[in-house]
Amino acid sequence: MKKYIKYYIQKLLSSKYIRKGSCKRCGKCCRNILLYIEDEPIRTKEQFERVKEWEKHYNNFYISGKNETGALLFTCNEISEDNLCKVYHFRGLGCRNYPKVNSKFLINGGKPLDGCGYYFEADKPFTSYLNNP
Ligand code: SF4
Ligand code: SF4
Repeated sequence: MKKYIKYYIQKLLSSKYIRKGSCKRCGKCCRNILLYIEDEPIRTKEQFERVKEWEKHYNNFYISGKNETGALLFTCNEISEDNLCKVYHFRGLGCRNYPKVNSKFLINGGKPLDGCGYYFEADKPFTSYLNNP
């Protein structure tokens, strides 16, 4: 029991990532989207056609490229030529929270898209632990 209490106190006091910066309205995040099938990024047109049958909202996207790992990249139909969201007030939670703080993603080297105005930072710098043993 003592072990669990210690674990949760440490977790509570540990450093956390926070999102900083602001949106530059470049529209990249609406044009470089990864979509998933069974927890894996979609890699083929056939997979995309299949997943659209049960994930109807995937019909809002079209294939617009491929990344260096071979995963398909999608563009949202709602992005305008001038990078504005045509359904801004009705956009989904995923869009509202982008880029979301996700510790697992960040620890594994994940970061916002190149040129994105947001970045992530630890709320307490590592040196603060050295100064306060
Ligand atoms: S990639 Fe970043 S800066 Fe560009 S539109 Fe998306 S959130 Fe804004
Ligand atoms: S709904 Fe709007 S914010 Fe969300 S991906 Fe599409 S264009 Fe971007």
